[in-house]
Amino acid sequence: MPFRPSLRLILVCAVALLAVAAVALTTYRLSRQQALLELQATGRHRLDLYAASLEREIGKYAYFPAALGLERAVPDLLDARMAREVNGYLEELNQRAGTLSIYIMNRAGRVLASSNWRRPDSFVGADLSFRPYFRDAIAGYKGRFFGIGMLRGEPGYYLSSALADGGEVIGVAVVKVGLEQLEKSLSTMEAPIFVTDENGVIILSSVPGWKFRTPHPIGENTRAAFDRSRQYNRYELKPLGVREIARLDEQTRLIELAREKNEAPSVYPTSGEFMAQSQPLARSTWTLTVYSPLGQIEYMSTIRAAVAGVTTVLLCFVTLTFNERRKHLQDRLAAREALQQAHDELERKVEERTLDLSTANLKLQDEIAERVRAERSLRATQDELIQAGKLAVIGQLSTGIAHELNQPLAALRTLSANTARFLERGDEATARSNLERIGQLVDRMGQITGELKSFAKKSSGQPRPAEMRQIVSSVAALLEQRLRACGAQLACRFPDTPVYALCDPNRMEQVLVNLLGNALDAMTGQASPRIDLAVEVHGRTIRLQVRDYGTGLRDEVLPRLFEPFFTTKEANLGLGLGLAISAGIVSDFGGTLAGGNHPEGGAVFTLELPLAENTRPS
Ligand code: ADP
Repeated sequence: MPFRPSLRLILVCAVALLAVAAVALTTYRLSRQQALLELQATGRHRLDLYAASLEREIGKYAYFPAALGLERAVPDLLDARMAREVNGYLEELNQRAGTLSIYIMNRAGRVLASSNWRRPDSFVGADLSFRPYFRDAIAGYKGRFFGIGMLRGEPGYYLSSALADGGEVIGVAVVKVGLEQLEKSLSTMEAPIFVTDENGVIILSSVPGWKFRTPHPIGENTRAAFDRSRQYNRYELKPLGVREIARLDEQTRLIELAREKNEAPSVYPTSGEFMAQSQPLARSTWTLTVYSPLGQIEYMSTIRAAVAGVTTVLLCFVTLTFNERRKHLQDRLAAREALQQAHDELERKVEERTLDLSTANLKLQDEIAERVRAERSLRATQDELIQAGKLAVIGQLSTGIAHELNQPLAALRTLSANTARFLERGDEATARSNLERIGQLVDRMGQITGELKSFAKKSSGQPRPAEMRQIVSSVAALLEQRLRACGAQLACRFPDTPVYALCDPNRMEQVLVNLLGNALDAMTGQASPRIDLAVEVHGRTIRLQVRDYGTGLRDEVLPRLFEPFFTTKEANLGLGLGLAISAGIVSDFGGTLAGGNHPEGGAVFTLELPLAENTRPS
């Protein structure tokens, strides 16, 4: 089955995803903000550090020009005749101090003596009155000026001081300090750092290629002014390619530095995003600027955001798992409660049902008692009915007997009266014939009563287990003479083991004698009559069948077969009581007797009796 996430799951995932994104973003921002603050502090620290070291470095030379005036008598220094000696002095001083050059100008700005007096491009005699450091010194200030030497094109820091004699300015002493000195302190910095002069031109930089570049483009007018002062001499003053991204405060900006074609290899990045922080250098017109790279911040912020995101994912997962577990436990608790409730309910129901059941049981008992009573009364009624039936049979029988006996009795009366009269007349022959007739009638009446006697006698027998084969052999013995007279054959078939029927054997013999007698009657006149007698056991019943090959039962006979005094036989051959009495006997044993025709001709009488299986014959 394909996995189909539920709407709830999708929502939870979406919310979790949003949470993760929000946390990661917030972490990134906070981390970046924090890092920017830290970087700002670091930058400030760097600025302070470098400013201090630069101050220190410049400070070493700050009083140098003024000190020059103290070293020798100022008129000496400015005396043209003394120039040679002064030149030598300045040369030696320059060497010792490690400065670029030291020179002295008169009030007009002409160089009278210089440390480089020996060199062909010496300043001696040059007019440097246009130089700002000269003008500043004449005006009474301590001149500080960054400039590139006109003659040798060497950049340097000019420190100037007026030389006075008796309160009157007679000249200017200038010390030019090489930038290498100052740049040494930059080398230890971990980020691009540079110094711009009052014109915004980088004069000192930890990145060598940035020197004489401008962080901000300079206008044409300014450039023309530079040309006039020849301050930057041959340098082009190319802009650095800075683009401001954001301004954090007065001295702090976020900037982007364009990548340059021939970027020199450096220990720190010289292009990309930076935090630019500037600070004016004390006692100068210079500005110190540090570019702290933001790359590390971005990297760290991204890492932190990723860690926060992953942590949130883990938290979400833990929360979800915990929640699922809690829900699972809740479900289990609910299920247990539901189970308990169901159990309680079941117990209650069972209790109810038990009550119901006991009530029902009581009812059932009542009902059973009622049924037993009803059955008893039914049985009583049945008994009564049977009794009534018996009485009816007896009534019927009595009527038949009365009818059967009345006729011979009336005949007897007439015959006896006639006989007496014939004797009186002396007609002995007729009287004898009448007496014979009377005798016949009495026999007939005796026959009827005899039959009834046997019926009465046999009905008193109690059922007991009787072996069928024995019963049949008794019957065969009784009928032996008759069978032989007719030339009839009795074919018997029994089960392999003895079969006991619950009956009175004497009365059963009577029934069988009757059935076999009827069969023989039906086959009167046949050449070789035959009777098939078969005993079979079916379940708890013994079935005995007597089949003959005679006329069979006619249609009008079948419904009246068991009717007392119904006979198709001649008066002296049958009374019509045999089957009626037989059926009565069989029914007394709890069995049945039925008659029918065999499909291949002849009558079949079927007798069924209860089996007395486990009882031994007594
Ligand atoms: P009875 O033998 O005295 O006539 P039963 O009650 O024994 O009286 O028989 C009643 C009648 O049933 C007989 O008259 C006869 O018509 C008929 N019947 C009985 N058994 C047979 C048989 N095996 N074949 C043909 N008819 C029979």
